[in-house]
Amino acid sequence: MTATDRTPAGDFERTPGGAILMDGNRLRDEVVADLNERITALGNPHVCLATVLVGDDKPSQIYVRSKRRKADEAGMMSRHVGLPADITQEYLEEAVLELVNDPHVHGILVQLPLPEGLDAERVLAMIPPEKDVDGLTERSMGRLVRGGEGHVPCTPLGVMRLMDRYGVETSGKRAVVIGRSTLVGLPQVLLLGRKGCDATPTLAHSRSGDLAAICREADIIVAAVGMAGLVTADFVKPGAAVLDVGISRTAEGIQGDVDFDAVQEIAGAITPMPGGTGPMTIGCLLENTFHAARMQGALPQES
Ligand code: NAD
Repeated sequence: MTATDRTPAGDFERTPGGAILMDGNRLRDEVVADLNERITALGNPHVCLATVLVGDDKPSQIYVRSKRRKADEAGMMSRHVGLPADITQEYLEEAVLELVNDPHVHGILVQLPLPEGLDAERVLAMIPPEKDVDGLTERSMGRLVRGGEGHVPCTPLGVMRLMDRYGVETSGKRAVVIGRSTLVGLPQVLLLGRKGCDATPTLAHSRSGDLAAICREADIIVAAVGMAGLVTADFVKPGAAVLDVGISRTAEGIQGDVDFDAVQEIAGAITPMPGGTGPMTIGCLLENTFHAARMQGALPQES
């Protein structure tokens, strides 16, 4: 099945307009259940994710709480380091260094953004690639570019997993990624273009010009901007897969970059927002933590 095939196939839920609904909550639950099964089968080895949260930003608190809850459901331990917004760079680095040196901690997640005045790059640079479960450090990105063993950034990896789970064909397909951040857009392009996925990606951004015309060429659109409703129906080729990463907090609640109601009438597959790429960011973080424990020799051989 391909995303361009709009005839009913498989047991996938569909939107009122007939697009396959790429349900991130469902896939995240499958990932968590699978990890729990594997960890149980291995005799419940100690696998630990450490989260670092600086300040009292409400959305960041919710994200971190949710990551820790899902780690627990997966059969992992989590350790939380909560620090006040007025902490100095030096103290923050000391706290992270403690986690770096602790052999009982396998993955370290520093929740971004950090409060004004703190240098996130310096903090990230301290995390060794094997513990960098967010995949955001220079060394992890370098490994992604060069095809070495390491952790891939969770949000773009989650997008790949959603396409795989919901039967979106990528080989030989044209993809457009909107947004060129190191957090999402850039690694997304690398993942789409790498061997085995074999799509032909274009990286679009704020200076790209006629975005609608660029996107209409695409079989796959990944929108990672943070501009509510940017991707309208006239951006979408009939049957294309549309994955929404952008998050805008508006008076009507959380909104994605994609005008869901209009686009689901045309797309072959679409993620909801919320409930699409966000939950899978957490699913992939936990998978990365499991692999981190393996890289650090903390897991027995799986049979
Ligand atoms: P960012 O601000 O670093 O990057 C945004 C990108 O959008 C930039 O590269 C910019 O060139 C591009 N852009 C801005 N205006 C544009 C326009 N009019 N047309 C085309 N491109 C434009 O943001 P980010 O960290 O990459 O995050 C992007 C969005 O994704 C944000 O809304 C963020 O909250 C969200 N996000 C969601 C998840 C998730 O799990 N779903 C994870 C991370 C980030």
